[in-house]
Amino acid sequence: MSAEFDLIRKYFQQPAPAEMLGVGDDCALFPVPVGQVVAVSTDMLVEGIHFFPDVEPFLLGHKALAVNLSDLAAMGAEPVGCVLGLSLPRVDANWLDGFSRGFLELAREYDCPLLGGDTTRGPKVCLSVTVFGAVPAGQALRRDAGRAGDDIWVSGTLGGADLALQMLQGGHTQEAWRLPGLRGALERPVPQVALGRQLRGIANAAIDISDGLLQDLGHILIASASAAQLDLQALPAHPGLSGMDDAVVLDAMLGGGDVYELCFTASAAQREQVQSAASAAGVSVTRIGMLLAGEPGTLQDGRGLPLHAARAGFDHFQGQ
Ligand code: ADP
Ligand code: MG
Repeated sequence: MSAEFDLIRKYFQQPAPAEMLGVGDDCALFPVPVGQVVAVSTDMLVEGIHFFPDVEPFLLGHKALAVNLSDLAAMGAEPVGCVLGLSLPRVDANWLDGFSRGFLELAREYDCPLLGGDTTRGPKVCLSVTVFGAVPAGQALRRDAGRAGDDIWVSGTLGGADLALQMLQGGHTQEAWRLPGLRGALERPVPQVALGRQLRGIANAAIDISDGLLQDLGHILIASASAAQLDLQALPAHPGLSGMDDAVVLDAMLGGGDVYELCFTASAAQREQVQSAASAAGVSVTRIGMLLAGEPGTLQDGRGLPLHAARAGFDHFQGQ
């Protein structure tokens, strides 16, 4: 047996559910329930660009899968399985052990078995995770389904991951005592799969917040040809930020990425149903504004003043 197959067997081979074919053949196989469509999402993570070379491998494994499960959540899809592409400069047993545990623990928790992948040697650690989910045909929560007059909602809290990142990069030294309470938001994001599923048939448009509230809500606005008004006072700040400078917190809530909460719209007639869906999923949701008929993609605050992000969300090709 080659070192490559040994590595796959040791760290990534898992028993697949009975109705599926997992690691070990030319393709993975899984059934799709009648009346459902497959939701697919893929993400690449490159060392030095998406994560620090010295990141804890367990946390990297967790996050690599979590961000993809978050995409399924944002469509209202349930996880079915995933595949993992891995490029590694060397076989580092300690790294592989931590990474595979972080990845597979979350895969088990969300019933998203690892069904296959590809492993190769390359100059840097580079990961590609693809998840497959299932959602009843016609019920996916699409970005283009927002309607003028819809309420805008967000799950959980905002700003924690961004300020944790700023502190890890040496910012806000006077506030660094807050870091232990904030870094979980950055390093252990919780994909809102149960909420996404509960919102089928209740929410109109939905997105997960990866690049920042304003930027990601902006995607809904463009796709749904809408404008929006946001109530800045209503934004739910991470509890670890209470007492911090208001402008710093607001900037983190509006512009900070790595949130992985859901931002979604629903008709005002659905307010009670939204709250019941959130309780059923065990998460909090907050109404933060509404969609307007107006110049698509434009945002204003509660007083009608134009709202611009102090910084834009992350753009890999900015300036090229
Ligand atoms: P092929 O040559 O047919 O592409 P490979 O030799 O690349 O097959 O992989 C052998 C088996 O191991 C396949 O079932 C593949 O899906 C699985 N596999 C390879 N790398 C990984 C990985 N990183 N995680 C999970 N499964 C993997
Ligand atoms: Mg292959």
